Amino acid sequence: MHMRYDILIAGAGMTGATAARVLAEAGLRVCVAEERDHTGGNCHDGPDEYGVIVHPYGPHIFHTSRQAVIAFLSRFTDWRAYEHRVTALVRNRIIPLPFNLTSLAMCFPVREAQRMEKALIQRHGRDGQAPILELRRSQDACLRDLADFVYEEVFLGYTQKQWGLAPTEIDPQVTARVPVRVNHDDRYFQDSFQHMPDVGFARMFDRMLEHPGITLRLGTPVADVGAAARAVIHTGAIDEYFHHRLGALPYRSLDFDFRHYAQPRHLPSAVLNYPDAAVPWTRITEYRQLTGQEHPHTSVSVEYPRPHEPGRTLPYYPVFTDDAARLYADYRELAEREAPEVIFAGRLGAFRYLNMDDAVLAGMEAARQVLDRLG
Ligand SMILES: Cc1cc2nc3c(=O)[nH]c(=O)nc-3n(C[C@H](O)[C@H](O)[C@H](O)COP(=O)(O)OP(=O)(O)OC[C@H]3O[C@@H](n4cnc5c(N)ncnc54)[C@H](O)[C@@H]3O)c2cc1C
Repeated sequence: MHMRYDILIAGAGMTGATAARVLAEAGLRVCVAEERDHTGGNCHDGPDEYGVIVHPYGPHIFHTSRQAVIAFLSRFTDWRAYEHRVTALVRNRIIPLPFNLTSLAMCFPVREAQRMEKALIQRHGRDGQAPILELRRSQDACLRDLADFVYEEVFLGYTQKQWGLAPTEIDPQVTARVPVRVNHDDRYFQDSFQHMPDVGFARMFDRMLEHPGITLRLGTPVADVGAAARAVIHTGAIDEYFHHRLGALPYRSLDFDFRHYAQPRHLPSAVLNYPDAAVPWTRITEYRQLTGQEHPHTSVSVEYPRPHEPGRTLPYYPVFTDDAARLYADYRELAEREAPEVIFAGRLGAFRYLNMDDAVLAGMEAARQVLDRLG
């Protein structure tokens, strides 16, 4: 083996690409090994057979309030303002999500809706957020009724399908993502910066990785690189790195059924959720509403959550159970003992759900650790 690189990075997703760029700009020779035949990890996008740009690993919407992330990514793309909106099919009505005062008015008779709205404003303030778990514990019967409705009609079935678990087994961080909004704001995200890369994600990643200090090897699992490096950043799964020696960390997987329609628009919003447990898919996404692409026709993906089978399906969402947390801690110990030179980072390396902006920060942090180590 020859010492050809300073840094070897496994994975050209948001975490790996960010780390690669930062380290190359610090003057280091970086090799990025990516086992897929494209950059961008799960944030990848590209045209389908009809020329409609889709996200093959599910809809990715960029949103952040972090200036460092905006400044970094803005070097590789201009932006197109885009505020994401989601609706849900609930009892044959299409309502805005997160559940807000508009949804409330659509789901309850006028008097009841007014009473609930007043109670919400009194308890949580106008423009407040009322997590359903908190509402369910309220003294006020009408708020408990509201919470039960949202919980059963919007949250429960969706969550069961999404995770294949009872809600009590799910991390509160995840359940907190479903608040009732005490206003009519129907934007899905509340971050100050809600834009999509106007060159698309794929091009943005290619620009990040276009640097004389970066060698990109697509279609190459890191184990096949055959070159030594002074430091390694691994953004693949930590359990896979150790050949699942302690057992497999639990993930949910997804199947996407892509469909094309010879019409300009298919859905009332970019994403339509199906909370009904009897419907096997969780949501449908119409990509042209996300990308703003001009095209006479439209493509959508129907999303089916699936159990993850290591080696056969892709690990999408970490499943946070107590056992999983213990197993992950055991892998960290194993990593410290047997692979102290490797920095595990990103959503798979750190077994965490990361939004894209978190992943940029994770990449910057991994790069900082490398620079500290190499002095
Ligand atoms: C369905 C879905 C929707 C999402 N929507 C959003 C959204 O709307 N907004 C948002 O901010 N975030 C969203 N996210 C999160 C976003 O996907 C992550 O933040 C981001 O992908 C994390 O980047 P990463 O580099 O850590 O991981 P990844 O994107 O998974 O990249 C890891 C890369 O490492 C490669 N790899 C793994 N093992 C090896 C190996 N041994 N050798 C070589 N290469 C390897 C993989 O092929 C992959 O390309 C979504 C996630 C999912 C699952």
